[in-house]
Amino acid sequence: MAGSIHEGPEFGIGDFVLLQDVSMDAFMDNLKLRYEKNRIYTYIGEVVVSVNPYKTVDIYNKSYVDQYKGREIYERPPHIFALADATYKTMKRSSRDTCIVISGESGSGKTEASKIIMRYIAAVTNVGGQKEVERVKDVLIKSNNILEAFGNAKTNRNDNSSRFGKYMDINFDFKGDPVGGHVNNYLLEKSRVVHQQTGERNFHAFYQLIYGSNDQKLSECKLVRDPEQYHYTAQGGEPKCATINDRDDYKLVMSAMKTLGFPFNKVEALWRVVAAVLHLGNIQYEAVDDHDHAGIPDKSALATIAMLMSVDTEDLRKALCSRVIAAGGQVVEKFLTVKEAKVARDAFAKAIYDRAFTWIVGKVNEAIDPKASGMKLVGKNTVIGVLDIYGFEIFDNNSFEQFCINYCNEKLQQLFIQLVLKQEQEEYMKEGIEWVHVEYFNNKIICDLVEQSHKGILAILDEACLSVGKVTDEMFLTAMSQKLSKHDHFTCRSLNPSDKTLEHGVEFRIRHYAGDVKYSVEGFIEKNRDTLYQDFKRLLYNSKESLLKDMWPEGKQHITETTKRPVTAGTNFKNSIIALVDNMASKEPHYVRCIKPNEIKSPAAFNHERVKHQVMYLGLLENVRVRRAGFVYRATYSRFLQRYKLISSKTWPNFRGTDIDGVKTIIKEYNYESDVAYGRSKIFIRSPQTLFELEELRDKYI
Ligand code: ADP
Ligand code: MG
Repeated sequence: MAGSIHEGPEFGIGDFVLLQDVSMDAFMDNLKLRYEKNRIYTYIGEVVVSVNPYKTVDIYNKSYVDQYKGREIYERPPHIFALADATYKTMKRSSRDTCIVISGESGSGKTEASKIIMRYIAAVTNVGGQKEVERVKDVLIKSNNILEAFGNAKTNRNDNSSRFGKYMDINFDFKGDPVGGHVNNYLLEKSRVVHQQTGERNFHAFYQLIYGSNDQKLSECKLVRDPEQYHYTAQGGEPKCATINDRDDYKLVMSAMKTLGFPFNKVEALWRVVAAVLHLGNIQYEAVDDHDHAGIPDKSALATIAMLMSVDTEDLRKALCSRVIAAGGQVVEKFLTVKEAKVARDAFAKAIYDRAFTWIVGKVNEAIDPKASGMKLVGKNTVIGVLDIYGFEIFDNNSFEQFCINYCNEKLQQLFIQLVLKQEQEEYMKEGIEWVHVEYFNNKIICDLVEQSHKGILAILDEACLSVGKVTDEMFLTAMSQKLSKHDHFTCRSLNPSDKTLEHGVEFRIRHYAGDVKYSVEGFIEKNRDTLYQDFKRLLYNSKESLLKDMWPEGKQHITETTKRPVTAGTNFKNSIIALVDNMASKEPHYVRCIKPNEIKSPAAFNHERVKHQVMYLGLLENVRVRRAGFVYRATYSRFLQRYKLISSKTWPNFRGTDIDGVKTIIKEYNYESDVAYGRSKIFIRSPQTLFELEELRDKYI
């Protein structure tokens, strides 16, 4: 029966909930079998598990769109279109806001999935062919080109790796046509601006400018067509990437910025800022006195950067070599050592790029703002949100960034637990069916470990960052070990001297829901403080280029004014993630769980250990168990009757009576009564076996 979820035994089982026994082995066998048969999607109830095929699979064309449009999830083989359609239908039918959470590790296919979903929605909407709606769709899809240029990079895991978290709302009018959207971005990996590992690249935008801009623009930016000439683009050693055409992408980005209505002069200024960052990376310092104070011998490099950013050359030099501090009402200039100056320069470069990215997101939002679309918004405006965010990260060396990312994943897991269980519970109540309690690991305790006020890790870190005097990373670790000594999910060497895998005074370990992760405290304080000298802010605020000036409003402040303590990076991230989770909790969620089959981007390799690891930390088995604890399958009476009426002579071809009586007739005839429950509008089936048998019976009669 090629049509339904159950395609036949050679393709494995389309829904893990229907596995005969729930074990890791059974799960893995089924996933592998399906992957080898090019069945990259499998359900866990309504959750879609997706394995990156690393090749073009021809399953997204119009005929596939037509097969899934308006259908129920069980009626066709598993596909991400079914999820997109279910999301869209809920949004349209019940005017409820919905969201799609896409998670998985880098390179598992999250961003592709989000684009496939967007294209599906674009394909099934605007049947009336309204010009304005077409424009909105075009703008929404093209916004991706811009965000990817500035926010994605080649990494060793993925040639087009998103280096920021992205949540995008798509707004729909009462007819179900898209009228606009909004993007929220989370924690851009700005350290990449100044440092890349071997084999990796900086953000695509740098190479697009170098390879893609015309000769005139290149010379205006005082650049040469060779990324190896710039420290910030040369470190990876492979500036060209086989799967990326920077020249074409540059054109694409320029055209997308035009479509989105970015003002031409701002676009030009933006590229000059990108060029300025490249030149900054090449600034060389040398000691000018016995105190190792920094000076910049190459005056023309300074002049170039000053020109590109429309600031005064001497002001720029000062900001790069010294800082001005107000002490006891007096303003004094403090000279930086060569080492300090290099750190300041890099912090400056990162901050400029980070702000530029934020500016771009803001511009994208202006362009896709539903109010700006010029379309009259009649009635209620509903939303589908798509979250494409970094998955759990466990590297050899885990630092502050991994800590933040993994905290974010704990929060999403918490949301998942709450919502999936809550949804089940609500449905049972609505249908008048008794709720069975399910045992599961609640990771709230780990979220608390990180985020609780006063005694959470982030609070302890903030306290360390804000205290006066010199505070070291080691002191922060000591503070944690004192305050968290009783916590089951936290340990470090001083708490657990026998644990030789942890280095004294440097490392701590968190037992995450997805596994143990060892973090090095090195750099935590610095990264959390995320300070940029006021001198740089003032410098850019005084830029003649309004693009830069507008990005740095706090540069307005006079030196002697006492500054409010800025919110730390960690707390800032925490607040944005809490807001994100609250936002999603108010919507009806759908989930896509992406899996990467191997490390070598191969379409043919299924790396058992790596996949198993992901299945574990995505909590997929637990998900199956929760789902099976109650009823594996449910359908409205009319759906069920329609699908199975052909297996009983009493209901075929037409049943004269209510749907529920028709369903009861079939269930009685085949003796399934002990395995089902009758809700108000739906039938619930407990065991997978029953559903299989029903499907087999149906096969016989077709
Ligand atoms: P992530 O966002 O999870 O880091 P991506 O979505 O960027 O991963 O996917 C990485 C690469 O894998 C893509 O550039 C593409 O080559 C391939 N890929 C992912 N999903 C698919 C798919 N559904 N079909 C074909 N190739 C895919
Ligand atoms: Mg991505």
